[in-house]
Amino acid sequence: MPNFKTLDDLPADLSGKVALVRVDLNLPMNGGSASDVTRVEASKPTILELAEKGAKVLLLAHFGRPGGARSSVLSTSMVQGDVEEVLGKEIMFVPEVAGPVVEQSLGILRDGDIGLLDNVRFWPGEEANDADFAASIAAHGDIYVNDAFSAAHRAHATTEGIARILPAYAGRAMERELSALDAALGNPEAPVAAVVGGAKVSTKLAVLKNLVGKVQHLIIGGGMANTFLAARGVDVGKSLCEHDLTDTANQIMDEADHAGCTVHLPYDVVVAKEFAATPASLRTCNVHEVASDEMILDIGPQAVEALADVLKTCRTLVLNGPLGAFETTPFDEATVALAKTAAALTQDGSLTSVAGGGDTVAALNHAKVAGDFTYISTAGGAFLEWMEGKELPGVAALSA
Ligand code: ADP
Ligand code: MG
Repeated sequence: MPNFKTLDDLPADLSGKVALVRVDLNLPMNGGSASDVTRVEASKPTILELAEKGAKVLLLAHFGRPGGARSSVLSTSMVQGDVEEVLGKEIMFVPEVAGPVVEQSLGILRDGDIGLLDNVRFWPGEEANDADFAASIAAHGDIYVNDAFSAAHRAHATTEGIARILPAYAGRAMERELSALDAALGNPEAPVAAVVGGAKVSTKLAVLKNLVGKVQHLIIGGGMANTFLAARGVDVGKSLCEHDLTDTANQIMDEADHAGCTVHLPYDVVVAKEFAATPASLRTCNVHEVASDEMILDIGPQAVEALADVLKTCRTLVLNGPLGAFETTPFDEATVALAKTAAALTQDGSLTSVAGGGDTVAALNHAKVAGDFTYISTAGGAFLEWMEGKELPGVAALSA
């Protein structure tokens, strides 16, 4: 566990101080507002704690990929209403991140007030981690708090650079995230199961390679299971499958074998000839019975039952990636069923369950079990890099 300062290390009274707080406001949008505010909820305790201590809080965040130039639709003002709703407080939008406009705004804000600075990625210095850019922002603050684990895999000015200029602290969400991740893979209680699903093997190769050496059970689902099944000689028909990665899949299964990690692939699958909600061609079959014009869109009920039995023998679960194309019914069934089993085991006290990944969080919310897991990471890429066993620059800068 890296060594870093938390809000507990701050004085009780922060009146007259300015806290620059890096948060994750990169919310999925639906029309004019966010379709999911989980990330704001995650940083609410940090923001309010600093405000209650009397600091003027300036929120730093990126929103989309403006590529170093202003874009009206990618202004953080797009999510101001959502942030206010979650915080239960009005906040002031500041259309800059540094300079006289920020200075004037600080003159208007009172102790305990909150300001929202514009999209840090409007300036090329952010992604370049430019030292002058970081210093221009840091000039407005007394302390820096990083509560955006989700951006910690990037060495950017507001995730890494500022932490090297101002006294730096991990926010409550960052702190909880790091200790949950430590309990899941850093120092987990064995046996450990990892469920890796999602669309493609190619996006999660490094994850799979890291996990085989760390967990006792590797459960593979989603589109990526098709590549593993194909590697074992199964004809997966029209399924999403990376045929060029079957050698890699075999290699991963060999490495797992040597490391004493059992790889679990489904015996039965849910297939259809067209990808639509409850298509006429929908059926469940053994993996060896998939027709050439069918595609695998979910793992089957027998496989889910077998996996539930595996989870019952485990003490720790790390979950990333849905087991099927869960956005379309009924291809959400395996994902929902396994999530419910993991949630129930967690509530019984027999399992520590940690999950992460953009679509995974959506799937767990859809299964209505998000509150029953030990910890759900709202970080996408950062969670994956952590699952890959990498050191994250934003975390390393807090520990320096
Ligand atoms: P996460 O964002 O949680 O890391 P991924 O992005 O890797 O997850 O994968 C999620 C996507 O995988 C979902 O959009 C889901 O529809 C898709 N998926 C899962 N199983 C299948 C399948 N059998 N065929 C096609 N797509 C699938
Ligand atoms: Mg995804």
